[in-house]
Parts: sequence; C-alpha cells; structure tokens
Amino acid sequence: MGYVRWKDATPLQKANAMVHLQLLNIFLPLVIVILAIVLLLSGCGVDLPINQQLDASSSDLEEPLDLQLIEMTLLRLPLGHEHLLEGWIVGVDHDPVDHGGLGMECVNHDGYLNFPYCYDEHRGTDFALAGGFLAMDEGVGVLAAADGTVIRVVDGNYDRCRLDWFEVTCDGHPMEANEVVIQHPDGLMTIYKHLRKDSVVVEPGDEVACGALIGMVGSSGNSVMPHLHLELRMRGEVVDPYSGFMSQPWSWWVTEESWTGFPGEQCR
Ligand SMILES: [Zn+2]
Repeated sequence: MGYVRWKDATPLQKANAMVHLQLLNIFLPLVIVILAIVLLLSGCGVDLPINQQLDASSSDLEEPLDLQLIEMTLLRLPLGHEHLLEGWIVGVDHDPVDHGGLGMECVNHDGYLNFPYCYDEHRGTDFALAGGFLAMDEGVGVLAAADGTVIRVVDGNYDRCRLDWFEVTCDGHPMEANEVVIQHPDGLMTIYKHLRKDSVVVEPGDEVACGALIGMVGSSGNSVMPHLHLELRMRGEVVDPYSGFMSQPWSWWVTEESWTGFPGEQCR
C-alpha cells in the first residue's frame, strides 16, 4: 500500500492518521517508563563509584574465601597396623533397621551384608588387637587421627570387659567406656572408645597433632575384646570414614587402598 500526501488525503485517511498519532503519544512514554523500571530492577545503568563496586564485590567473596581456607580433615589409621588382627575391620551399619537379637545383620559402606563387615546399629569402625588381652597389657598406643582439639575425656572405667556366653560382661563393673573426643577444624569430630583404664594422656582443651599419643587400646564399656572403636561425626551425624556407595563417594582416610585393608598411617 502506497502513501498519500497530506493535502491529497481524504478526510477519512486524515482521521485515521490522527488516531495513530494519538495512540503513539500515549504508548511511547508508557513503553519508555516500563523499560526504565526493568533496567533499574536488573541493576543496569546504576553506576556505583569504583571503590563502592570493589567493596561490594570483596564483601560478597569474604565468606566463601574463609571457608576455602579450612581444608577437609583427612585421617590416618589411629594406631600401628602391626598390632591389629589382619583384615578384621568391623564397619559402620548403613541399614537403619534395628534387627535386635545377636545384632549380626547390617550393611557396610560397600553394600556387604552382616558381620564381620559390620554389625547391627554399629556407628563406628572397629580395629581389634592381635594377641587380645596379652597385647593390651603390653600396651598399644591410640593416636590422634588428625590435628585437632581434645573436647572430651572419660577415664577410670574397668577395661577388661569381654564376651561371656554371647553377652558382654564387665565382671560386675559399670559398662562404661573410656574415651577421647577430638574436634577438627572443618567440623569433623573423632571419637576413640574402649580405652585402657587410666591410660588417657590428654585433657579437654589440649591441641593435638596428627599421630600424637592420646591413650592405650583397652576393652572398657560395651566391648567383647581389646579393640579401638573409631567413630566420626559431622554436624552430629555419624559418617563412615570409608568411601562406598552406601556411605559417600569420598574417603575420610588420607589413603584408602581397599575396603578390606587398613588405611594408611601417614598424616596428610
Ligand atoms: Zn565399635
């Protein structure tokens, strides 16, 4: 459709053109106002002075940067592997059901079922002494699995609890474990249980380095033989140091060669 010069236009064409112009007069300012509001809301066109922009960006980054400075805690085997029953590692139960009875039903970090991979409701990993009570009496040290601060110590409890006809007996003494709890910088907590009576050499508030002696392996509390129960808590929740599809894809050990082998003894 061609266009017509104003002076040649019919009255109807002139009236149509006036309506179009009036519509433009109403809508154009409206469109400009809406565009301006959208730009303001999206933050475009707001020019902060350079220093304010820097302040804004550095305060945004502050928290993530601080978090990045705290490395994830990685653990060593908290005693010498030469003292341990080879291949005997009783792990965390990932099956939430309480089966009762002898408590042999469980699922370990890699999905293996039942004792000796784990036992019902077990919240830690057990390492047993080769040589039993004889080895315990000779003395096997329990070592801090990583740098941290001691936050709890229990000592003085009877340490020759054992299995007697499928039941744990502490020969009439209270079934209370001697234990040390260490808090690590990233929030992980390590708990060392069943320690020998009067063997704990640290106290709450002590800073301990990875590999430092904290006590001796014993059989205090709910324990059938001299062994170390190592328990990990992250924000109060029990976690398994071993990686596996039932626990988590990463390992809390500095080195984890296989789920049947002991973790490494080097600190990170
Ligand atoms: Zn245990």
